[in-house]
Amino acid sequence: MQGLPVQNYTSKKQSSPLGKLIVLTGPSGVGKGTLMNEILQRYPELHYSVSATTRSPRPGEINGKNYYFISRNQFEELVTQGEFLEWAEFAGNCYGTLREAVLNHVQSGKLVVLEIELEGARQIRHNFPNSLSIFILPPSFPELEGRIRRRGQDSEEAITRRLQRAQEEMAAANEFDLQIINDDFEKALNEIEQAIFA
Ligand code: 5GP
Repeated sequence: MQGLPVQNYTSKKQSSPLGKLIVLTGPSGVGKGTLMNEILQRYPELHYSVSATTRSPRPGEINGKNYYFISRNQFEELVTQGEFLEWAEFAGNCYGTLREAVLNHVQSGKLVVLEIELEGARQIRHNFPNSLSIFILPPSFPELEGRIRRRGQDSEEAITRRLQRAQEEMAAANEFDLQIINDDFEKALNEIEQAIFA
């Protein structure tokens, strides 16, 4: 994969906004993926960045659509080659946003949506201060636990790791531009729409 030139992208040092990065973050199980899918359906002009991960596909997940499912060796190689805009380890697996998947779209004026965990969201916020970062919160911690368990997609060990991480992530909500509680789906969606298109 070829790295892309970043000279036209808005960063701390450059100031000619073309497109924009929109980051949806928040704990695993909060429903940010569902919110994002609905937003993408309603606004086909938005571009979704497909991430790479070392996690195994869950039933029904498609390579190249949900994620690029790659080995840890491949992931490490991409890290070494500087191919990630951000990356992080989450609950025992690596996840990263490919430069190529994002920057050419932003440079051509598109709004690009990333749905990523806390560490990655911090990296994007630091490197691209003109991005819009939205933190999605659950109505309560027990509700989040219930959602992760009901999803039925993870082992008990993975659930425990995700819940521990969720507590750390929720403590960081105020670092981001906007905090939205995903209690009422339509209301949360509406708030995200307003933030993106304001
Ligand atoms: P899951 O395994 O449930 O699909 O994702 C676990 C976590 O990784 C979620 O919080 C998701 O938002 C996050 N994630 C997905 N893609 C990326 C990425 O490219 N970078 C980072 N930093 N996190 C990601």
